[in-house]
Amino acid sequence: MTDHPRIPLAGVLGHPVAHSRSPVLHGYWLRRYGLKGYYIPIDVAPADLGHVVRTLPQMGFVGVNITIPHKEAILEIADIVTDRAALIGAANTLIFRADGRIHADNTDGTGFIANLRQHAPHWAASDGPAAVLGAGGAARAVVAALLEAGAPEIRICNRTRPRAEVLRSDFGAKVVVDDWTQSSHMIQGCATVVNTTSLGMVGKPDLLVNLDYISPQTVVTDLVYTPLNTRFLAEAAAKGCTIVDGLGMLLHQAAPGFERWFGQRPEVDEATRQAVLSA
Ligand code: NAP
Repeated sequence: MTDHPRIPLAGVLGHPVAHSRSPVLHGYWLRRYGLKGYYIPIDVAPADLGHVVRTLPQMGFVGVNITIPHKEAILEIADIVTDRAALIGAANTLIFRADGRIHADNTDGTGFIANLRQHAPHWAASDGPAAVLGAGGAARAVVAALLEAGAPEIRICNRTRPRAEVLRSDFGAKVVVDDWTQSSHMIQGCATVVNTTSLGMVGKPDLLVNLDYISPQTVVTDLVYTPLNTRFLAEAAAKGCTIVDGLGMLLHQAAPGFERWFGQRPEVDEATRQAVLSA
């Protein structure tokens, strides 16, 4: 037994996890606010996830982020799952409560909206239909968040169409599914266009969408943030659209966890972006 208060520990669980920017981000915030604590990457194989997560609180962990491939499986392990995490079907933030229960939340959607509000201040989800390219895990968080923020209609297309149909049946009649090959028509008249596919990421082919008919009033955003300025965003900017890169979503989705674990709401500002970009 000891009377010394424990230094709070947090981290990110993934497999692999070495690529994660979260340790740099949380480490920067810990230094910036002069807080005691550590945030580390933890590589956990899927078969070990339950055991590891249940052991972490005994080691002084106050919570963790969850990344690929554990975001869905963690819902089965958590004791409390927020409504939005249940609706999305995935969690990215765990809080280890003092009563021993594991609380799971998903902050990807709020991070997505906060990023748009910060970098396109005139934007509102209610401005018009939104087009979502892709129907993977990230798309589910984006669709949930756009609906909650007031988007009147969400048009989705995905290479594998049945995955988009699942989103329609899960999220209701405001969701409309189009063919992947119809993406350039689908975005016509949309106030918001979002790439949630991994196309455009370093090592992947570019996302190719004909933007000839896009209105310059459209706000175009990409969840990919390596590179920061994807070809898709560059082409949208050339059409006069407001563009928002994906790094801000990563930063904003991290803020609620940091606040819960370390007791300080962190600023998501240019200094934070630069700290992550320069690492
Ligand atoms: P995921 O569940 O694996 O989904 C991948 C999506 O990309 C699916 O819609 C998939 O279509 C599509 N895709 C992959 N390769 C394709 C190709 N060659 N042609 C057409 N479509 C293709 O992944 P996720 O978790 O949703 O993540 C998607 C992207 O968002 C990743 O780049 C990830 O890094 C990024 N992300 C960023 C943030 C952030 O904070 N900025 C947060 C979460 C995710 P199929 O269904 O047909 O395979």
